Amino acid sequence: MNTFSWVFVAALGASVALRLWLAGRQISSVAAHRERVPDAFANAIQLDAHRKAADYTLVKARQGRLELLYDSLLLLGWTLGGGLQWLDSLWLSAHWSPINTGVAVILSAFIIMALLELPFSLYHTFVIEERFGFNKTTPATFIGDLAKQALLMLLLGVPLAWAALWLMQSSGSLWWLYLWLLWAGFSLLMLWAYPTVIAPLFNKFTPLDNEQLRRRIQTLLDRCGFKSKGIYIMDGSRRSGHGNAYFTGLGRNKRIVFFDTLLETLEANEIEAVLAHELGHFKRKHVQKRIVIMMLMSLGGLALLGWLIQQTWFYQGLGVTQPSHHLALLLFLMVTPVFTLFLQPLASWFSRRHEFEADDYAATQSSAGDLIRALVKLYKENASTLTPDPLYSAFYDSHPPAPVRVAHLSTRIG
Ligand SMILES: [Zn+2]
Repeated sequence: MNTFSWVFVAALGASVALRLWLAGRQISSVAAHRERVPDAFANAIQLDAHRKAADYTLVKARQGRLELLYDSLLLLGWTLGGGLQWLDSLWLSAHWSPINTGVAVILSAFIIMALLELPFSLYHTFVIEERFGFNKTTPATFIGDLAKQALLMLLLGVPLAWAALWLMQSSGSLWWLYLWLLWAGFSLLMLWAYPTVIAPLFNKFTPLDNEQLRRRIQTLLDRCGFKSKGIYIMDGSRRSGHGNAYFTGLGRNKRIVFFDTLLETLEANEIEAVLAHELGHFKRKHVQKRIVIMMLMSLGGLALLGWLIQQTWFYQGLGVTQPSHHLALLLFLMVTPVFTLFLQPLASWFSRRHEFEADDYAATQSSAGDLIRALVKLYKENASTLTPDPLYSAFYDSHPPAPVRVAHLSTRIG
């Protein structure tokens, strides 16, 4: 234990206390409004549905609190508890080359972390989602997903970890810059390949065959000057009753994707309004802005790591007695989120601003009224709370809370 250990423990304690306090506020706010549908939604949402949304939100928030405590204890176990040091010693006794040892340590740490999270994800899918009627995942699908994720991690993660450790060992003091270039290239490749290579491993994508709707959407796309590689329906109902729409990919390799569940819930004009919102993100260059910010953050992070890796207090303060490149990487990945949590409100604010801009775009290109109707149906279908705590929402929510968003869109009608 050194001074940095205490800085880390204090930051972890503060972040846990803050998150528990916010969760407590959210729980009180949702529970206090459980018996009354807010006036703005009184015509569209029945008391039953409103109560269900409250119960669903409360159950998730309570599980979130448990998971937070569990994760924080695990983090202490990995670091100050000597977990990483122990795993490292285990692999060092195999006497492999430093890079191969490093890849083995990183890979096994990720596998252990995934296994330790498994009980929560099982409980979430098969108990909570099941209880509220959202779960469509069968145990076979769940196991199949795990197997595919593990395979992807091996196929992509092993070469990436190997290349990263090789750069750290062989490319001199500017290794962090080269590693950043590798990481940036890899991220862009993944964004580009996601719709056509990765997503189809988990879901079926079929071209939208409703001719009337397809033509309507194409007209909107032409009007907005959006070129894509097609409009697809995804079989989201294989896993969950939640509905969504998005577009993915980069450059020409863009796809518009509707969950089949969404198409069942919404009318054609509402679907058009939802798509117009998504196009708003594209038109206002939100995707590009997000990528640039991500790249700058990772550059800053790697430059910081380039400095930390030379400081013995960094390792010693986090329970590691034998410094190495791979342990520096792992420690950095595990510990940074404790400190960056305090940036969360800024990121959420930025994201909510983008949502308002996309809503404004939808209001001009399509219809604010249709978008409101679509949103209200989706809030209801997804059992989203209409009465979040304002502070909780300001801290975490990437989208404006339901009442604020609907009120904003209402000003854009007509
Ligand atoms: Zn959006």
